[in-house]
Amino acid sequence: MTTSPAPTDLAARAFDLRARLERANELYYLRDAPEISDAEYDSLMHELRDLEAGHPELITPDSPTQRVGSVQKSSFAPVRHPNPMTSLDNAFGQSDLRSFEAKVNRALGLPEDTPQEYTCEFKIDGLSINILYLNGRLEWAATRGDGLVGEDVTANVLTIGEIPRRLSRPLNLEVRGEVYLARSELERINANLPEGAQPFKNARNAAAGALRQKDPTVTASRRLMAFFYALGEHHAVGVKTQHELLEFLSDLGLPINHEYAVVQGSQGVEEYCALLTAQRADVDFDADGVVAKLDSLGLQDELGFTARAPRWAIAYKFPAVEVETTLLAIEVNTGRTGKVTPLAHLEPRVIEGTVVSRATLHNKAFVRGLDLRIGDRVLVRRAGGVIPEILRVLPGGHVPGSEPWPFPANCPRCGHELVLDGAHHFCVNPACPAQAYERLAHFVSRGAMDIQGLGEKLLTQLIATGLVKDAADLYSLTVSQLENLERMGRKSAENIVSQVEASKDRELWRLIFALGVRFVGEKVAQLLERSYPSLEAVAQASATELGAISGVGPTIAEAIVEALADPAMLALIARLTAAGVNVASRVKAAGTALAGLTFVLTGVLTEPREIVRARLEALGARVTDSVTKKTTHVVAGEDAGGKLDKAISLGVPVLDEAGLRALITERTTE
Ligand code: AMP
Ligand code: ZN
Repeated sequence: MTTSPAPTDLAARAFDLRARLERANELYYLRDAPEISDAEYDSLMHELRDLEAGHPELITPDSPTQRVGSVQKSSFAPVRHPNPMTSLDNAFGQSDLRSFEAKVNRALGLPEDTPQEYTCEFKIDGLSINILYLNGRLEWAATRGDGLVGEDVTANVLTIGEIPRRLSRPLNLEVRGEVYLARSELERINANLPEGAQPFKNARNAAAGALRQKDPTVTASRRLMAFFYALGEHHAVGVKTQHELLEFLSDLGLPINHEYAVVQGSQGVEEYCALLTAQRADVDFDADGVVAKLDSLGLQDELGFTARAPRWAIAYKFPAVEVETTLLAIEVNTGRTGKVTPLAHLEPRVIEGTVVSRATLHNKAFVRGLDLRIGDRVLVRRAGGVIPEILRVLPGGHVPGSEPWPFPANCPRCGHELVLDGAHHFCVNPACPAQAYERLAHFVSRGAMDIQGLGEKLLTQLIATGLVKDAADLYSLTVSQLENLERMGRKSAENIVSQVEASKDRELWRLIFALGVRFVGEKVAQLLERSYPSLEAVAQASATELGAISGVGPTIAEAIVEALADPAMLALIARLTAAGVNVASRVKAAGTALAGLTFVLTGVLTEPREIVRARLEALGARVTDSVTKKTTHVVAGEDAGGKLDKAISLGVPVLDEAGLRALITERTTE
């Protein structure tokens, strides 16, 4: 395919989409706190994929389209999967299914409308698991992680009664499946929670929580289940089709989902999807779609995988479920940046196993557009994701005599007049207690500076009494000041002071994350700590330089530069530094063999790029995406293209993989 160079606005759009997807990934994978719905995520991803398909020169190696997900923050040991675990491409309707079949046929050199044979299975909404059996005995079990490296959850998986410790035959096999929690079990767990504990929102979250428990006895107390459907490597076992594979797994003693069918052509897939769409409410597990897989394993081999997903399978997503409910109230919140967001309180309804009682209303225009009034009968949609949305007011759904809900003109907390910026209203009062509270709550949170004991009540009091205006003030709090507050004893006051003191010694990335710069989550903060020796060095870096860091990119880089140039931010950083908070990176100490070197990886390497990158970074090198005068080495694999040319034209030394190994050996054995 030939393409003309993409106009810069397309490039900008791609950057923007990537930044938003990165952020969504991070919130989802690292913080279990998604901000956008799955449907929104899918549509951003869809747009980015289309854009990249039309303009392959816009694809970057770290684009979210090229990966499965983020590596989870973890206290479990990493396990390298013998064969990578991939994701699945999605289809949202009949035409996607048809174009999938056409693409398969083209790749196989057949007429586009040749009907293929498929095995269709429910797409279970759980967590993927990879289990290695050696000689028929369960050796280890791991989560998917980023697809290459997962977490060792063997101890927890051993508590799952449905998963055999021993297969019926002494085979060496890598088996894949989904661990999930039955809906009935979720109800049982939620009904028996200890006093005051938050109920689980859905089965998937509860299953994830159970599987990633430090204490296996907790896992054992939640009855997890599993379905298996694949092998890491099927060549040695002598089955020829996906449906035989399922029965083979079942014969070995592994649980499979018997609700599957072998169907003909995309037409057959459509019909079966329609059938399962109708059945999904009646099964005792959450499913978010149907997976259609080419039945012939021979054809599967012929088609192979992209970096992200098999070419021989497609996940048909169930349409979103819509229910009617009543809008009880609208609450307005002021966030950390001053952004004011209306939130709908709904009469609780169970949608697909999840209790829905709130929906975000985004902004004033959204509320206006729907003409929302308190008491309205509304249609709510939950697209498999966690955040539901109001679609519209039902015909005749307004309470007679009701008035459109008035969006406030003033901050609900401080009363300051709101200012419209883009699509949102902001409270721009620098002394707004709501913003101060949100910023502080973020600063002390577990993922950031991890200062315990500063809960909502205490922070609110500290702000109200004027003792604390910003994060730096925390470091001058004294025991006697704290002791005089409501519900505070000497002991807890001392405890808080020592917690605050201890936080001076946190890793730099925690501080960077705690500062609350837009787009800078834990992952980006860690990348920054790895690339710079100190917070000051980060603050002095240019947007171009920051943007060249793999995983950062231009949008995030701009946001960092802008935030760290703000005088108020600089003053805060200066006061934190003066208070003795650590602002130096400790990463370099781990490995300095390659310190000062900047690598660019290009072409097809014999190992996944992430692995090579991680190894270089662990030795103190930087790895960036584009070749500049600052690049010290380009590592070129097979089929290297533009970056190699650029290196040659700039006179940057080029290494092959053997050359890289030699360099590492030389540097690490001095
Ligand atoms: P996603 O990560 O949402 O693109 O979807 C891919 C994931 O779907 C896989 O990693 C599996 O964990 C999961 N999945 C659930 N049910 C199935 C199934 N029947 N066949 C294949 N994958 C499945
Ligand atoms: Zn305010």
